[in-house]
Amino acid sequence: MSESAVKVGADAAAASAVDAKGGAAVKGGAVPLIELVNLKKYFVIKGAKQGSRHVHAVDDVSLSIRQGETLGLVGESGCGKTTLGRTALRLYEPTAGRILYRGEDITDAKMLPYRRKMQIIFQDPSASLDPRMTVGEIVGEAIDIHGLAESKAARRERISALLDRVGLNSEQANRYPHEFSGGQQQRIGIARALAVEPEFIVCDEPISALDVSIQSQIVNMLDDMQDQLGLTYLFIAHDISVVRYISDRIGVMYLGKLVELAESGEIHKNPLHPYTRTLFAAAPVPDPEKNRGRTRAVLEGDIPSPINPPPGCRFHTRCPNAEPRCSAAEPEFREYSPGHYAACHLL
Ligand code: SF4
Repeated sequence: MSESAVKVGADAAAASAVDAKGGAAVKGGAVPLIELVNLKKYFVIKGAKQGSRHVHAVDDVSLSIRQGETLGLVGESGCGKTTLGRTALRLYEPTAGRILYRGEDITDAKMLPYRRKMQIIFQDPSASLDPRMTVGEIVGEAIDIHGLAESKAARRERISALLDRVGLNSEQANRYPHEFSGGQQQRIGIARALAVEPEFIVCDEPISALDVSIQSQIVNMLDDMQDQLGLTYLFIAHDISVVRYISDRIGVMYLGKLVELAESGEIHKNPLHPYTRTLFAAAPVPDPEKNRGRTRAVLEGDIPSPINPPPGCRFHTRCPNAEPRCSAAEPEFREYSPGHYAACHLL
């Protein structure tokens, strides 16, 4: 473990910050696998003077992810969900806030020991696989970096077992990514993530670039892997219906903020935030007959710029229920029933 990783599991301030911000109070008092505490990620705009203009991609988000659960994270493009996932892995350095892994503050830690435990599956498998490397080299690279095979034979065996686990076979190890379909390429990406025996995987829209016909295969495979390997997922999607069945809890983001968080069944039965309700109303349902008779709610106006987010509640420029106080003060992210949090003045 890195010397810079500071043990703060018993840090009352951190715990209360997470709870107070609605970041998933932890069942039974167990230490969560990962905690984000008041996390911010701002990007400096090119050409602007340092510090003068920023994209507020993630703005003061706190949440915890329990070991073995899937937390679904949804919201429109540009709401900050991908940035949140990447910052949680320190692929982006946070602007402010803290990241805790098993209670250890890894915000400034050397990441090599944690890289093994924390992996990512990318949205576009064709862009995330090096076209000059064979599948065996792609999957084997992480095994080599972390010294996980003692001999060439053990390495070969490990690659073969990984390909087998994701529904490919060892003969395909010598082929290149372009020789595979999109679904197979995503399976290669998953094998690469699994190669280092991770505990936590950020699944960043892993099926949105795939044909509808194979989306369920990939989701089912991720689900089975979680059961078999005890994995913990942050599952990012722009469509709330995608995360509905795979998630234990669902968080909803709008313009860099977490606006609602609850158990999956609860948020479906009783969405509190006007934005969440719009997402549900806009989502397609699997039964075409039911879809035909539905009025699909559409949000008026574009999502505002994260460079200059609206004051008060960031959703007020599009919210059908907005009142004058909504633009004056930011609503608090509060717990309205056990484990169900939302940020809206009208609740
Ligand atoms: Fe809408 Fe106001 Fe609630 Fe924001 S605080 S979601 S603008 S009603």
